[in-house]
Amino acid sequence: MTDIFDEPLLLTPGPCSISLTTKEAMLHDYSSGEEVMAEKMAAIAQYLIKIVNGVGTHTMVPLVGSGTYATEAAIGTFVPRDGKLLVHTNGVYGDRIVDICQHLKLNYASFRTQPYTPPTRKQFEDAIKADPAITHVMVVHCETSTGILNPIEEIAQVCKAYGKGLLIDAVASFGIIDLDAKKLAYDAVIFSANKGMQAPPGLAFVIAKKAVLEECKGNCHSLSLDLWDQNQHFERTGGFRFTPATHLLLAFAQACKEHEEEGGVAGRRARYAASWRRLVDGMRQMGFHTLVDDAHASPIVSTFHDPDDPNYSFGQLYAGMKKRGFIIFPGRLAAANTFRIANIGIVTPEDIGRAMDALSECFAEMGVKNFGRAEVAAA
Ligand SMILES: *Cc1c(COP(=O)(O)O)cnc(C)c1O
Repeated sequence: MTDIFDEPLLLTPGPCSISLTTKEAMLHDYSSGEEVMAEKMAAIAQYLIKIVNGVGTHTMVPLVGSGTYATEAAIGTFVPRDGKLLVHTNGVYGDRIVDICQHLKLNYASFRTQPYTPPTRKQFEDAIKADPAITHVMVVHCETSTGILNPIEEIAQVCKAYGKGLLIDAVASFGIIDLDAKKLAYDAVIFSANKGMQAPPGLAFVIAKKAVLEECKGNCHSLSLDLWDQNQHFERTGGFRFTPATHLLLAFAQACKEHEEEGGVAGRRARYAASWRRLVDGMRQMGFHTLVDDAHASPIVSTFHDPDDPNYSFGQLYAGMKKRGFIIFPGRLAAANTFRIANIGIVTPEDIGRAMDALSECFAEMGVKNFGRAEVAAA
């Protein structure tokens, strides 16, 4: 499903290819104070809170910026200066949270687990028990650098049992996988516009437990990232404190409508899961191996071992795929000698079928015959 400009389809984990109707929604110049902007903002907040089952308990705080801005805002706002954050990492995005803690000079502890297997309940319990100063826990739901899905329900249960606040980086998974606010009882879930919500990049959101956010006055190190302050302003005025990304908000409101029309989280997940199944089956038929077992894999992005063949080069594969209308991504440090194919955005199972044909052609062109796994270098 390429668009009117015949640009390549993005098989990358964000930004993703988005619908023409979502792009068209941006063709208006509105001032920030116009009624239509307040209406769109209210509709967005209502929809996002509804799909996480957070009506009454949770509130939505919008930010201009990419997902990382919202992560930094949530850490700054929710973890008080005398608090301590436990960070779990099994990939690049977990490492980024650690990096943020270091920049904020925040009290934190971190623990690392294998990039291809999910962490266990016991690992979280042990880390919490080892350090009574810990007040909050932050985890990445879908670790995009490998595609692994971390066990958010179990982690939420541990946080609840030990009375720790839970912050979830759901940038990759929001809108695709259920993040029930009542069941998971998180303090905050963080996501951006340009992944599963299929809107243009540049907006990020935090859905926060109201009662907790209201106690966060004065925590944040930064004015522009202070979610408490933005939330107070939003409750009073229905808008942003600073220049809102008006065009992006119009597109995001349309993207919410299309998300709902597709059947909400369940509907979107069903299409993504069908695309993912086709991708993984097709790749295995060619002889490829996935980095992550299907039991722990997300229907969002998949990592494949490079073929163990001297004729293989990612650069040539990338160029060949681009020529055929698809953009793919290299692997990340957490799993070297791999490449990644995502199936988010407007991608359909039929698109994945065409992409598999294109891959076969590229490998024939390169003269790659052995698709067995190349050795994985450790991070
Ligand atoms: C995309 C992504 C982010 C945010 O990255 P930005 O480049 O700041 O948008 C954070 N966490 C995960 C898991 C992601 O997939």
